[in-house]
Amino acid sequence: MSGEGFSRAMGAVYEQCLPLRDGTVADYIPELDTVDPESFGIALATTSGQLLSCGDAEHEFTIQSISKAFNFCIALELLGRDEVLKHVGVEPSGDAFNAIIFDPQTSLPFNPMVNAGAITVCGLLRRALGHNAVEHVLERFSRAAARPLAISDAVYRSESLTGHRNRALGHMLVSVGVADQPIEPTLELYFQLCSVLVNANDLARMGATLANIGENPFTGESVFDLTAVRDTLSVMFTCGMYDYSGNWALDVGVPAKSGVGGGVVGIVNRQLGIGTFSPRLDAKGNSVRGVRAFECLSGEFGLHAFEFTNFGSQFVRDIGM
Ligand code: GLU
Repeated sequence: MSGEGFSRAMGAVYEQCLPLRDGTVADYIPELDTVDPESFGIALATTSGQLLSCGDAEHEFTIQSISKAFNFCIALELLGRDEVLKHVGVEPSGDAFNAIIFDPQTSLPFNPMVNAGAITVCGLLRRALGHNAVEHVLERFSRAAARPLAISDAVYRSESLTGHRNRALGHMLVSVGVADQPIEPTLELYFQLCSVLVNANDLARMGATLANIGENPFTGESVFDLTAVRDTLSVMFTCGMYDYSGNWALDVGVPAKSGVGGGVVGIVNRQLGIGTFSPRLDAKGNSVRGVRAFECLSGEFGLHAFEFTNFGSQFVRDIGM
């Protein structure tokens, strides 16, 4: 499809989703409630380095749980898969993202996309990177987004002041021997990385970097390790959309991650990164318009991983198979 055809189809999806006003803006982190509930943006970034967007695609919001996917990817690269998997599982939990629950068989957090697992991953990042962890990870996020990103101090402080449940989870992780003492700096790292400001265009470019097996198609820079990307996409596919991940896999069929700030990033392997932003969330914590937009885009362009019109990996074609 031509760039113009893509643009037109994306505009039609935007118009179709705009009237949706169901759901509510997250307010359990007080600062999140200051966002304009009407804002809505969609962005598509191709692995050939084109960006198409519509609506409020430059409107900034905090990345929240979407950071978990990228943190996991960086931890896999820095510590190696075996070491990371000694601390966190890869099974869907079927529970809420902030559930205080561990896998009964392994006593590990279920996966890196729920808070228990994400805090564990932040502990591993601190172990590998020490005091420089936040700068290092922010720099990686920035390279994936192809622009310098920053942390919202207001959201970070708001979450740090009110994140009692995450603190409880952190101390539980120490008590079961999954996280190291002291847990406070790990929790602060987790809160800071949830507070990185992005827009839908950034999410699309970050997604395209994963779709392009770790190389940013806009800068040509290698940002993430190839095998870590594969593992990250696998876990995003099974666990990325809270306890809606099974339905998402069926209906949309692309690895994705959402956050309570209203963002969703999706990846079409070797083809596209998709970013959406709309802050009203459904009961599972996913952006209402974001979910609908992805359903429409997936249907319109045949993006589902198992869709017969999705030719999948360009690589497979390139090597002549
Ligand atoms: N910072 C949020 C929390 O830990 C992230 C939640 C989310 O986006 O799912 O509660």
